Amino acid sequence: MRFEIITIFPEFFTGFFEHGVVRRALKDGLVSVGVQDLREFTHDRHRTVDDRPFGGGEGMVLKPEPLAEALESLGIAAKAERGLSPPTLAPEKTRQDGAPHSVAGTQAVEEGAVAGTRVILLSAQGLRFTQATARALLPLERVVLLCGRYEGVDERINSLYCDMELSIGDYVLSGGELAAAVVMDAMTRLVPGVLGNEASSEFESFGITDSEISADEIGVPRSQHGSGGLLDYPHYTRPAEFGGLAAPEVLLSGDHQQIRRWRREQQLRKTLENRPDLLDRAQLSDEDRRMLVSLGWQPVGWPSRGRRQG
Ligand code: SAM
Repeated sequence: MRFEIITIFPEFFTGFFEHGVVRRALKDGLVSVGVQDLREFTHDRHRTVDDRPFGGGEGMVLKPEPLAEALESLGIAAKAERGLSPPTLAPEKTRQDGAPHSVAGTQAVEEGAVAGTRVILLSAQGLRFTQATARALLPLERVVLLCGRYEGVDERINSLYCDMELSIGDYVLSGGELAAAVVMDAMTRLVPGVLGNEASSEFESFGITDSEISADEIGVPRSQHGSGGLLDYPHYTRPAEFGGLAAPEVLLSGDHQQIRRWRREQQLRKTLENRPDLLDRAQLSDEDRRMLVSLGWQPVGWPSRGRRQG
């Protein structure tokens, strides 16, 4: 997997590339990255990358010509020339919860592009970037991350070159660099071989929710120990007592079945508390449902449509 980042602040990424999982993945050649300085694609004395917006209003807009040149320098032609009709992702295909449908959110990947390049514009107006998006983009050979600044990029760049517009959350950042780092980090840790334990990424928050989940030898759905689309359970390490709080006894018991059940219960509680929206599409067993209902959960479609009673 190769990442290409187009930015007016190339130095921004230096520290990011030098730490933790991303650093190791780069060092081991499991991913590679190129950073393109947008100013290198300007032709005036001041290396101008922005201009005033047509129609007036606040701020500046990133000019289209340097962006197009930067993309062309990476061998990326306009979508029409690549056989993709703009726009690749229509806004109406976004789900109500902001997450892309498995098909719509990955359409650019699925349209004959399993091995290939896709251009992603980081934008507060984009489809929400989720763990599912990160997984869906994984088969690509190259992901180009285009970082906006000021009021954003000239929309014609989006129309002509970008396959996907992604937002990392419902807030406005000053630039796309942080968002590009988020996308690269989330994707990198999913690349096979990057995490020590291959299964780690399945067993954390937003882990697998699909048919891969099956009952294990003791009849507990596999999602009792994988996350099954829920938030992760709380983790504890030594010392067993800290700040007047003991680590949960069950975790020290050595009883793996009990530990599994306790962790699942914690996942359910935490998800209900902090992200009840995830429960609608989580992989839940009958036992999970019973527990959630006892905690006050009302599944969507129940008469009052409330998520929590009282
Ligand atoms: N005028 C834009 C709007 O209201 O949607 C905000 C532009 S923002 C100040 C500048 C750049 O930051 C954007 O072009 C985009 O690249 C990046 N950005 C801001 N918020 C983002 C988000 N939530 N996700 C991804 N990128 C974001």
